[in-house]
Amino acid sequence: MRRGGHAGGMADCIFCRIVAGQIPAAKIHEDAETLVFLDIHPLAEGHALVIPKRHAVRVQDLPDAAAAALARAIAVATRKQAAALGAEGATLAVNDGPAAGQEVPHVHVHVVPRRKGDGGAPIHALPWPRPAQSIDQVKAVAERLSKA
Ligand code: 5GP
Ligand code: ZN
Repeated sequence: MRRGGHAGGMADCIFCRIVAGQIPAAKIHEDAETLVFLDIHPLAEGHALVIPKRHAVRVQDLPDAAAAALARAIAVATRKQAAALGAEGATLAVNDGPAAGQEVPHVHVHVVPRRKGDGGAPIHALPWPRPAQSIDQVKAVAERLSKA
C-alpha cells in the first residue's frame, strides 16, 4: 500500500531509494548530483545506469544543471568501462517514458560497454516500422520542431 494515496513519485521510487542508501546497489561513481551503478540485469558486463540524484521521470523534466551533470557522469562511466573492462565503445540509451519502454520512472541512462564482434547491434537495428520520409518531409518536420 502506498502511503497517502500517492500513485508513484519519489516515496516509492526504487532509484530514489538507491540514492538514499535504503536498498543496495553496485555503485561505481558518485558526485553531488549523480549516481552511477550497475544494472541488475546487465546486457553486457559492466552495464551501468547513470541517474540524477534528484527525482525526475523524463529527460525533459531535468533542470539544465542536472542535465549537464548527467552528461558528465555518462562520460565518466564510459571512461571507467574502457579503463577497467577494455570496452572499445558503448551504446548509450534512454527509454524516455512508458511509450519508449521506460519501466523505472526515474531518469536513467543505460551505458552498455561494447566491443567489436560482441553480437550486439546499433540502435538503428531496433525493429519497428519506419516512416518512409522524403527530404522535404524531413524538412517540414524540422520546421515544426524548431518552432515548438
Ligand atoms: P528501463 O526503465 O530503462 O526499461 O529499465 C530499467 C532498468 O533498471 C532495467 O535494465 C533493470 O534491469 C534495472 N533495474 C530495475 N530495478 C533495479 C534495481 O533495483 N537495481 C538495479 N541495479 N537495477 C535495476
Ligand atoms: Zn526517483
